[in-house]
Amino acid sequence: MTNYNFEAETWRVLELLTHSIYSNKEIFLRELISNSSDAIDKARLKSLTDVNFLWDDSDFKIFIEVDDKKNTITIEDNGIWMTKQEMISNLWTIAKSGTKEFLEKLEKAKENKEHNLIWQFWVGFYSAFMIADKVEVESKSGLDSKAHKWISDWKTGYEVENSDRIKRWTKITLFVNEANKELLEEWKIRELVKKYSNYVSTPIMMKAYDPRTEEEKQKEPKEMDFEQVNETKPLWKKDKKDVTEEEYKSLYQSVSFDWNNPLFSLQTAVDWLVSYKSILFSPKDQNMYQNLTDPNLDFWPKLYVQNVLILEHSKELLPIYLRFISGVIETNDLPLNISREMLQSNSTLDRIKKSLTKKVISEFWKILKNKREDYEVFWRNYWKVLKEWIYYDFELKEDIASISLFKSYSENKYITLEEYLQKAPTKTEKVKCDHDEHWHHCCHECSEEEEKTHSHCHEHKEETKEVKKIYYIIAKSESEARISPFLSQFKKAWVDVLILTDAIDSFWVTALDEYKGTKLVSITASDIELEEKTEEQKQEEQKQKQDFKSLSDFIKNIIWEDKIEEVVLNNNLGENLWALKTPKNWIDPQLEKMMRAMGQEVPAQKRIFELNPENKLVSIMKTEFEKDVKSDKLADAIKYSYYQAVLIEWWELENMGEFIALTNKFASQYLK
Ligand code: ADP
Repeated sequence: MTNYNFEAETWRVLELLTHSIYSNKEIFLRELISNSSDAIDKARLKSLTDVNFLWDDSDFKIFIEVDDKKNTITIEDNGIWMTKQEMISNLWTIAKSGTKEFLEKLEKAKENKEHNLIWQFWVGFYSAFMIADKVEVESKSGLDSKAHKWISDWKTGYEVENSDRIKRWTKITLFVNEANKELLEEWKIRELVKKYSNYVSTPIMMKAYDPRTEEEKQKEPKEMDFEQVNETKPLWKKDKKDVTEEEYKSLYQSVSFDWNNPLFSLQTAVDWLVSYKSILFSPKDQNMYQNLTDPNLDFWPKLYVQNVLILEHSKELLPIYLRFISGVIETNDLPLNISREMLQSNSTLDRIKKSLTKKVISEFWKILKNKREDYEVFWRNYWKVLKEWIYYDFELKEDIASISLFKSYSENKYITLEEYLQKAPTKTEKVKCDHDEHWHHCCHECSEEEEKTHSHCHEHKEETKEVKKIYYIIAKSESEARISPFLSQFKKAWVDVLILTDAIDSFWVTALDEYKGTKLVSITASDIELEEKTEEQKQEEQKQKQDFKSLSDFIKNIIWEDKIEEVVLNNNLGENLWALKTPKNWIDPQLEKMMRAMGQEVPAQKRIFELNPENKLVSIMKTEFEKDVKSDKLADAIKYSYYQAVLIEWWELENMGEFIALTNKFASQYLK
């Protein structure tokens, strides 16, 4: 016999799990059945490549027995065995890795009395100690002549000794403790199997119920036959109409470890080009067990081929940005002995992936239409992952855009692009004509220069159209976006703006570019005119421009020549003095900021400095300018307002010292 002591941390985990946190002890059975079922899946898989592995033992089953005399519950399976070494290392997986982290999470859950959260930890084999003082695990490996028995009372550690077991199977015996004696009843255990493990794909066998009285049983003892307790026909093989919501929910919980309801359960059977059956689930709430930032840890559906579980997390069957989707896919179009390498470039899998991706996206669309509130919860939790499509799946960009939500500036709630377009005003614009047949015969060959002289080219290549635009602003936060000077004209014209606040957004909108033929336009772009101007207004503006010309030139040439490409007037700035706009064809300033933050070289870009002629301070500056071009006060005021324009755009000030000195100068004048 060999004795092993637990490390301090393992002991603490066990103590917490078994004695203070778990309010629901029943789940021990689900955990142990799930281990047996996994072992059977592994045995099935191994037998595909090793014909001698099973001998005549291919009737896979899990047996559960309750003995109220010995106070034991046993769970026995004919799945893959454990060697002595495997017992030592495998039965203590929590001890092997991440014990400390796990312990911290547990302690925290206990502190916060988050009993439900504990459900989210996959505690596995440990849970046996919630109801037992002692646990024995016996297994006979095909590699060792002797079977081994692992024994632990959880307090002191564990021992491993030889066992006289002949059968190759694994048997777990729980010596039920005083506090949980009520579990030592066949019918109770049967109920627990039904409740938590009804759809485990292996038959779970228990002794048939003996309806006789205790007296009759004693008088005439009779061994009852084993009978199957669970339903093994997998849900995905059933007709959709025969599956209940409860059944979906229970399958969802078992594949995702998420104890909330899924956003949707999507069952499909496809028999065209490729054939498969599947049930896929999308989570709605955040699941603590998942770490979505790590693509290796997430749900991904299971893949079965001819009843055999081939992959636990089949990354080949859904794009990475749908990695939070869980469920089961079964196909008979793949050979059973398919290797991992083959899975990576397999045309059948590619076809299934395409088909599933489309179905999942259209299911999201349906939920968005019919269960908006639920969808918004989902969106808040998972949009960061969904948006990753831009790196992987350009083909589906419009489909994904149609299930995306955006914060609306004017409505202050989430809206879709479709909803935005319904309210967006149209504007008459000259656009490039797409109809080749409208062009003059020479137009196709005309160079741009030639086009200028051929009036017909102009006429035919351009057409006047009613167009809409989707306007957005990218900012670090919603509050930052809402103070942008660029919003003034949108507010005035009752045109909505989408507020985007995630780091990925600048890439996202650039990649999307347009939605159903409508361009996405950043409101920081320099040439946005929301309202058609009357002749009168145009003349007035022209006059103003003349009026301000010298001041504008002064600002541009003398003060910040290296920062400003142009100084222009803008009557749409509301309360603001200035705005810094990005010249047309330059990247969005947020993207520029992000690229700089990531250490990428971005050439220095001059901005367009927009000046609000209607602002009082601006007219004071103008008067001062006209009085004395060399006025120091004027230079100070211009510099100060330039700094404001920089700050309001959340750029860094190159000369913070000067800004503060100016502020103090003004404040001291004010307080004098
Ligand atoms: P998990 O199942 O999440 O890996 P567990 O703590 O439940 O963690 O089980 C630890 C390991 O013990 C399993 O991964 C498996 O290798 C082994 N094991 C548990 N039960 C059995 C069983 N019935 N047959 C074979 N191996 C088992």
